[in-house]
Amino acid sequence: MTLPDTDAVHPAQADQAPVVQEPAAPLPNLEIRANAGPDLAQLMAPPPRTDDACLACKSVYNYPIARWDKMPLSVLGLPRSEREARHMRGLVMDVRQCATCSHVFHSDFNYDHIPYRTGSNLVYNDGSSWRQYHDDLVEEWVRDYNLVGKRVVEIGCGEGLFLERLAKHGNHCIGFEPGPDAERAAARGIEAYAEYFQGSRLFDLRADALVCRHVIEHLANPLDFLEDIAIACCEADLSPLFFAEVPLIEKAMEQNRINDFLYEHVSNFTRNSFRTMFERAGFDVLDVQARFDDEVVTLVAKPTPKPLQRAVRLKATSFQKSVQRQIERVRTTLLAWQEAGLKVALWGGTGKGAALINMFSIDSGLVSTVIDSDPRKAGGFVPGTGQAIRTPDHLRVNQVDRILICTNWRARDIEREIRDVHGFDTDLYVYLEESIQELGPETRL
Ligand SMILES: [Zn+2]
Repeated sequence: MTLPDTDAVHPAQADQAPVVQEPAAPLPNLEIRANAGPDLAQLMAPPPRTDDACLACKSVYNYPIARWDKMPLSVLGLPRSEREARHMRGLVMDVRQCATCSHVFHSDFNYDHIPYRTGSNLVYNDGSSWRQYHDDLVEEWVRDYNLVGKRVVEIGCGEGLFLERLAKHGNHCIGFEPGPDAERAAARGIEAYAEYFQGSRLFDLRADALVCRHVIEHLANPLDFLEDIAIACCEADLSPLFFAEVPLIEKAMEQNRINDFLYEHVSNFTRNSFRTMFERAGFDVLDVQARFDDEVVTLVAKPTPKPLQRAVRLKATSFQKSVQRQIERVRTTLLAWQEAGLKVALWGGTGKGAALINMFSIDSGLVSTVIDSDPRKAGGFVPGTGQAIRTPDHLRVNQVDRILICTNWRARDIEREIRDVHGFDTDLYVYLEESIQELGPETRL
């Protein structure tokens, strides 16, 4: 998914267009503030567990911040008449802050209320300090991360203003923009796609860098969005730098400023929650900075190498391929035993034994005798296939030629029971390495 909000600026920022002249005073550290003099009675309250998982870290512990029951859209819903304005749909905005990562998010957000595909973003992108900020940011990222002659994909490129700046450094710029601004981006010479971005597009686009600015705060599932990209990077054997920017909520929280909460901004990031979300999604975070008078936060990350994902993929693929093969192999062996007139018993009729019997479709026509060590199972029947489960004594008067022990992890105990307790010298077999094998002293289970 991607959204058409690049180059967006908060209405609050746009109206005031603060001038960045000198480094802002550092934002207060939340932990230091909490330690300065906590209200112990308040902190001793039960944990605020809710049904609403944090959008950044998935924790279900959060604190209510504010709630409005009838808020109109404010970024993508500019009415064209007074009547239309007065009749705009009122939406529930329930703002909470995550106890674990400090993320501020809406718990009652419905993406369907927002017309991203048809609506142009109406935020104000002009203003000299905001433009200067973009110019400086591009220069900094180009210099610090050698963004020259690279393939850069921007997710939610809007009209392509940011990519246009990057293109001046010899970068091949590709933009995704599902809204009507895609055409304007194309007119700027950008390879523009009027569609939502999916991680799978990285296979053909082979990006060296991803840019995603003022998009992630709009997503209903930002963590899924990032994980999709991280997983795709691993599969495509790519390690692009990821440059992200969103509004920063810390200053608004510090000032108890409520008009930063917009329905369209389902997420309001702190530096910590922005970093936490990227790390949780599978990225190594290289840099996080509050910028533009501490009203936005930028982050640079790289997909974390995922040897486990590679290993899991190889194992899962080979396991899946083996299933049909081993079913055929085991059944072939049992059918051959049947044709040879050998009498067979299965040892273990519930749990893994029942699983084996069902997975290999060993019905009573193929093997009718099922024994179990546990006397409580006797008198019952194998789930699914229906053979009667009997005690070992059954084999004294109904001798068999072969016993297939159905549970490997108990096979040695069962072997001892068969040999030492019951005194049977029947040939023993186990299901091992995709086939039926004789159980000998050297067999490695
Ligand atoms: Zn969280």
